[in-house]
Amino acid sequence: MDDLFPLDGAFERVSVLLPLPLGPYDYKADPGMALGRGAIVEVPLGKRRVVGVVLGPGGAADGEEVAEERLRDVLRRFDVPPLPDSVLDLVEWVAAWTLAAPGQVLRMAISVPAAFDPPAPTVVHTVAPESAWAVNARLTPTRQRVLAALTDGPALEGRDLAREAAVGPGVIKGMIEAGMLARHALPPPPPFETPDPERATIPLTAEQEGAAESLRAAVRDRRFAVTVLDGVTGSGKTEVYFEAIAEALRLGRQALILLPEIALSAEWLDRFAARFGVRPAVWHSDLKPNVRRRTWRAVAEGTARVMVGARSALFLPFTELGLIVVDEEHEAAYKQEDGVAYQARDMAVVRARIEDLPIALVSATPSLETVENVRAGRYRAAHLTARPGLATLPEIGVIDLRKNPPERGRFLAPALVEEVEKTLAEGEQVLLFLNRRGYAPLTLCRGCGHRLECPNCTAWLVEHRLLGRLICHHCGFGGRLPKRCPSCEAEDSFVASGPGVERLAEEVAARFPDARFQVASSDTLTGPDKAANFLRAVRAREVDVIIGTQVVAKGHNFPWLTLVGVVDADLGLAGGDLRASERTYQLLHQVAGRAGRAERPGRVLLQTHVPENPVMQALVAGDRDRFLEQEALMRRQAGMPPFGRLAGIVISAPDAARADAAARAVARAAPRLAGVEVLGPAPAPLALLRGRHRRRLLVKTRRDVNIQRVLRDWLTPIKLENAVRLGVDVDPYSFL
Ligand code: ADP
Ligand code: ZN
Repeated sequence: MDDLFPLDGAFERVSVLLPLPLGPYDYKADPGMALGRGAIVEVPLGKRRVVGVVLGPGGAADGEEVAEERLRDVLRRFDVPPLPDSVLDLVEWVAAWTLAAPGQVLRMAISVPAAFDPPAPTVVHTVAPESAWAVNARLTPTRQRVLAALTDGPALEGRDLAREAAVGPGVIKGMIEAGMLARHALPPPPPFETPDPERATIPLTAEQEGAAESLRAAVRDRRFAVTVLDGVTGSGKTEVYFEAIAEALRLGRQALILLPEIALSAEWLDRFAARFGVRPAVWHSDLKPNVRRRTWRAVAEGTARVMVGARSALFLPFTELGLIVVDEEHEAAYKQEDGVAYQARDMAVVRARIEDLPIALVSATPSLETVENVRAGRYRAAHLTARPGLATLPEIGVIDLRKNPPERGRFLAPALVEEVEKTLAEGEQVLLFLNRRGYAPLTLCRGCGHRLECPNCTAWLVEHRLLGRLICHHCGFGGRLPKRCPSCEAEDSFVASGPGVERLAEEVAARFPDARFQVASSDTLTGPDKAANFLRAVRAREVDVIIGTQVVAKGHNFPWLTLVGVVDADLGLAGGDLRASERTYQLLHQVAGRAGRAERPGRVLLQTHVPENPVMQALVAGDRDRFLEQEALMRRQAGMPPFGRLAGIVISAPDAARADAAARAVARAAPRLAGVEVLGPAPAPLALLRGRHRRRLLVKTRRDVNIQRVLRDWLTPIKLENAVRLGVDVDPYSFL
């Protein structure tokens, strides 16, 4: 009976999803292509050819069927393994959750079209036996040079051979035609090596071993389970989840590790290589195109066994995944703000559920969402309470800036200066933490108070003295400091207001003239090489004082760093966004964790105007859980996430009138439903961004309300003018 039916999975009419906010569309397929779900194909769209993915058999999914004769043909099927079902399911899930079009989400999963064709083999040349030479083959001096280049050395690619023999490409071509050179196709260079799980294990403490074994057991179980690896900074969380990766490797499975800032994690890669013998495959947006292509294909073909990546690695086509790890799971960097607004940590849990896999969420300061999931029994927790060996947790104190302010024009209070001096005298290192890039956050006119603002955004221009420019941190607009104030015409009247790391560096140079200091921010550590260099210099004790933004807050181990001074602990508390306290707590805790990672005990001083703030109190008392309880109580009372649901709606237009009109129209259509509250519209805090005027609405619902359904029913029928854009952000992290 079998042969009465087409091959399983070989459809003749297929539904193809394109990486665009349209479709899917039906196409006709040659049965010889044997197209099944996940096949990557090229199809015509209008006058273009686009890459798409077969979802399944075509036909009347929602009524309107395109007549057979009007169907266009699938042009070709790429020679690449099909996208696994798990990825297609994930695409669908993320689209439904974020309200993005499935095609927009698919775009993240097939972001490297160059990887769909097999890599071209490398063609090398050797000298052919003389019997193969054409009778009229002449041995000119140039040709002799080519033969000489090959007799002493290895087989060479055409380009290298021409260079080596100092001849033009025509000479090589002629010799091939005359039968003097033989060509050989070599398979492409070997993909990633397989990490060795037994390479270099270290003896774990009893507590670490308990946590490691629970993760290993989860890997062996091959079932969906979320384990929160909750351990103080420096307690060995990385060592512990390395054990889970090792177990996945032993079982012949792949492992995916998500890190918030992969471009700056040279240290992590070194540790991995020390433990497993080779570097893992790496995935982030700055990869060179050929590396990107090779990496994507290696995942699809299963030759990349361990992948460490930024959030977009979640959409890679693993077929044998056995473990996902989300390190620093509380990091806001996991939330993508542009395009498809998704939370990679949450969607990693979704992928784990789709594939029935274990997943570990790792943090010293887990997010309130995760803590609540543990409390409710949805996730389980493994705790690490101590640093191994002699390292102890740092002692945290506050400096009340109301009582002990710095001198005028300075930013370090006397008590902190004194501590820095003591630390330097001991030959130890200091981190001065200030989460502000550039020289000064605000530049104003001494005469009239005029502030230099970005012409495209509701934002001040930030002076970057090292670059000699004022820059908008939102749109990148840059310019020189004007000679005259545009408002009162006074000359040379601008003064910097407030500190950035560059300005703090001036104070350090003036106060501690013998100290060697370095500014570490995303402006100075541009790229992995500079970052690695910086880390090496710190470890070699070539730096005494690090003046750093959040780029130095996490992950790194600096054994000689014993004092952390937080210059403005209150910085993150302003603005009143939902997670301001939580985020400030997490960041400061993380920074504090940089101190005393080895034998020498660490000390942390927080400069604050609000020592009574629960964040400061919790940090000083080392009482994270009480802080989280208070925070949870407040959110529960306010019906805020994770106890209620939120979605942001941003409407933008090139002019304010159209933005207002569209925002009002959207608000008028708002549903009136129990458990659903719509706030706004109001001008967004960033009312102008990249030249567009923005208005915001906030939707707040009870937790048991399907907020996606509410939004879809409300927004889908609304037709807006072309110039107006509407963006939805379910579970927003940014409220700007
Ligand atoms: P975390 O990820 O919790 O911040 P790490 O895994 O980075 O902690 O560990 C902190 C430091 O302690 C690292 O240098 C690590 O190599 C070391 N370490 C952790 N566990 C052990 C152990 N059992 N024996 C020796 N050194 C350890
Ligand atoms: Zn701007």
